[in-house]
Amino acid sequence: MKKQAKRRVGILGATGTVGQRVIHLLRNHPYFEVTALAASDRSEGKRYVEACNWKLPYPMPDAVKNIVLQPNQPPLKCDVVISSLPSDIALETEGAFAAAGYPVISNSSSYRMDEYVPLVVPEINPDHLDMIPHQQKKRGYGKGYIVTNPNCTTIGLVLALAPLQKAFGLEAVMMTSMQAISGAGYPGVASMDILDNVMPHFAGEEEKVEEEPQKIMGKFGKNKYTPAPFIVSAQCNRVAVQDGHFECVRVKLKKKATVEQVAAALAAFTGLPQELKLPTAPAHPVIVRTEKDRPQPRLDRDAENGMATVVGRISKDTIFDFKFTLVSHNTVRGAAGAAVLNAELLVAKGLL
Ligand code: NAP
Repeated sequence: MKKQAKRRVGILGATGTVGQRVIHLLRNHPYFEVTALAASDRSEGKRYVEACNWKLPYPMPDAVKNIVLQPNQPPLKCDVVISSLPSDIALETEGAFAAAGYPVISNSSSYRMDEYVPLVVPEINPDHLDMIPHQQKKRGYGKGYIVTNPNCTTIGLVLALAPLQKAFGLEAVMMTSMQAISGAGYPGVASMDILDNVMPHFAGEEEKVEEEPQKIMGKFGKNKYTPAPFIVSAQCNRVAVQDGHFECVRVKLKKKATVEQVAAALAAFTGLPQELKLPTAPAHPVIVRTEKDRPQPRLDRDAENGMATVVGRISKDTIFDFKFTLVSHNTVRGAAGAAVLNAELLVAKGLL
């Protein structure tokens, strides 16, 4: 790609679990530099180093330490906004930034199912970004727009479903998750609720996993998304794992296949980010492990710097056609890494 001045990035929700990951991923980034940070009125006016309870096992980048936190409202000194706000706040705030002319790349759920907003996984549906001019017209955003990435459980799942849909067609999917505590942000679930326990319900999660895959894997044409015609049944649980969502998946396919063909289709999967060699793109978005005891969150969540879905235990199922398990890093591929990869794709497509 032609060398250009770095795009200036503002981060909304910069002090949170996802915001910290975005800051880490953007350190020394070839396309982007962080120039503005925003958080709640608890943090506003403080330097980032004072306001942020930094929880990553890497040092806070020097470049952000002295940036003074601003309120989550325009104007911000940046060319693009990456938002990791709680969804109730994101609806109004992200809309306000788009209306003020900022491209907004969102981790929140508020706009994911909006009929004019692309819900993008760059390996699967980069063409869905073609909605942007129509969104701008419909919403009166001018140069601004909103692009979203999926729920942290959905994204690991769709990276494994997309190659199967392409090779064999998909009829039905059943998914049971064991999700990491970092998925609830910081401080998240009380330790006395999660230790020695499994938490079986968190509001809206199952509904998101049951509707987002069809939008992502559906078709875009004539300014309209047509969802892919398969059904998903999801049960989501929180377990005492720090990072990395674990999912047990069963699939019913349209065409007959063998275990070897399913494994080969998964392992061979690549897309536009790999072709374009985008900086955050994993070389292998899906990794297939053949050991009986893999994947595991602790051993596999960091594969490809946390950007790959690691699949294992592929076998025939007695009710559906096949079953397998997967691990996906919820705050990297499931949030910050997904947003950064979307931003890189937007640059590659000339939209940023
Ligand atoms: P978090 O750790 O709780 O961080 C929330 C951030 O939002 C903090 O920067 C906080 O600022 C700010 N904030 C909170 N209340 C605010 C308010 N009233 N006004 C303005 N700013 C406010 O949450 P998170 O885990 O990073 O999640 C952020 C978003 O990403 C959520 O929509 C979540 O659903 C989504 N997401 C999270 C994950 C994950 O694995 N964690 C994955 C995918 C998507 P202060 O520090 O000043 O309070």
